[in-house]
Amino acid sequence: MADAYAGAARPTILVVEDEAPLLTLLRYNLEKQGFNVEEAADGQEALMRVAEAKPDLVLLDWMLPALSGIEVCRQLRRRPNTRDLPIIMVTARTEDQDSVRALDMGADDYITKPFVMDSLLARIRALLRRSATVTAKGTLSYRDLTMDQDAHRVSRGPRALHLGPTEYRLLEFFLQHPGRVFTREQLLDAVWGRDIHVEPRTVDVHIRRLRKAVNGEGEIDIIRTVRSAGYALDAEQG
Ligand code: CA
Repeated sequence: MADAYAGAARPTILVVEDEAPLLTLLRYNLEKQGFNVEEAADGQEALMRVAEAKPDLVLLDWMLPALSGIEVCRQLRRRPNTRDLPIIMVTARTEDQDSVRALDMGADDYITKPFVMDSLLARIRALLRRSATVTAKGTLSYRDLTMDQDAHRVSRGPRALHLGPTEYRLLEFFLQHPGRVFTREQLLDAVWGRDIHVEPRTVDVHIRRLRKAVNGEGEIDIIRTVRSAGYALDAEQG
């Protein structure tokens, strides 16, 4: 397989995993794909390595010694300089609810152990694509909402908004088609891409996060839920 990042800046992935054989396997496969790999074997070390290595993405095991993956995720989301850091949570649990909880705690995506390496690589690439600062495109706006695509900044009125990469892409897509209703499947295709399988209700979790970030105290909810259809960027409710 060709090295996808030859000649370009190699994205750095911080792999947080306490199972040594899995860590070795992940390092081997990620390096083969052209990524720089940094490691941490527990939650405390993960927080230190994030500060030192400034990774482009964190692959974070849920069950870790010292500090759980969920707690690491929560702490990273609380810090201003890692608030938007792309995080994929690796969970050994098969309960859907736990996976949704990972998203609620601020992870951008999750994968369940045991996973197929190609599927993980596809998710990593998709998330890096979503978080990449895209080349000059200008400004999008709707009512008092403004997205500066060059500076990657979003504001509502005078208030600066902090969005994770997935929420940013969702909002960007909505801003490109204001008023139009999209089904969950359409949003998945547009924002996540067709090459990975994501549960449609994952969209609901990210919409909830987007709403929380966009709608301030006393402001009109500008995302409309269309029952049994989907969502639209539309302040004219009903
Ligand atoms: Ca583990």
